[in-house]
Amino acid sequence: MAQPFLAPARYYEKTGDSKVKCLLCPHGCALNPEQTGLCLARQNVDGKLVSLNYGQVTALALDPIEKKPLKRFHPGSLILSAGSFGCNLKCSFCQNWHLSQEQPPAKRFSPEQLVKAAEDTVKLGNIGLAYTYNEPSIWYEFVYDCARLAHQKGLKNVMVTNGYINREPLQELLPYLDAINIDLKAFSDDFYQKMCKGRIKHVRETIALCAPACHVEVTTLLIPGFNDSEEEVGMLARWLASLSADIPLHLSRHHPDYQMNEPAPISRQRMMELAELARQHLKYVFMGNV
Ligand code: SF4
Repeated sequence: MAQPFLAPARYYEKTGDSKVKCLLCPHGCALNPEQTGLCLARQNVDGKLVSLNYGQVTALALDPIEKKPLKRFHPGSLILSAGSFGCNLKCSFCQNWHLSQEQPPAKRFSPEQLVKAAEDTVKLGNIGLAYTYNEPSIWYEFVYDCARLAHQKGLKNVMVTNGYINREPLQELLPYLDAINIDLKAFSDDFYQKMCKGRIKHVRETIALCAPACHVEVTTLLIPGFNDSEEEVGMLARWLASLSADIPLHLSRHHPDYQMNEPAPISRQRMMELAELARQHLKYVFMGNV
């Protein structure tokens, strides 16, 4: 594993006795010295908050943009996709838990090195950088530094996120983001609290803030019996349409993983019915993982 590099974190306050409170996401972790936040990516070191995953790249691939998924942003192009480790939600059904809840081997990159790798692959059809695989909002300082540099080089920036970030850091990052795919994991606060250890209102606020500012697509992973009722999918689609009927919605099929061995994935027929229902409100509804 690459040597830990403790980069100064932004968005926190000192609360006395060497304690700090992180202000990056709605959890607002209050951390004693040496304590690490719920996301595994930020730690109180000697009374200062540091980022543990700055420049730590655990996954890097030149992916089709449709795989993010983004269907209506430069279709047919490729994007250099990078991820690190950690996540500030704890979804029991996580489809990427080796990166989100563990700390796999990483290779250290500077922003200059990652942006150079993106520039070097432009000739292959690459349009920029996607921050993805684990949760990029808790990779904040590195994403911010890369995104600024990438824009200077004429590259696009894409973020694939759970949307669990506070307004102020999001607003500072938004001018550098060209497209964003935000998970809306259900349309119920109960689901978010029980299954993800978060609250839906923060994700809804992020979607509402981003939709007028950059290209936004939304993904909902359908889990039979948990978030796939017609009533819930209908409410979700109606709410998105109240922001803009042009927001693409990806209804994606889950597979049993992490702490959930069941239920079995949703049937194709059921997905088609729910997609049809969502199309009563939204212009663009896609089915994923089918
Ligand atoms: S970003 Fe991490 S450390 Fe900061 S409040 Fe959120 S979970 Fe806690």
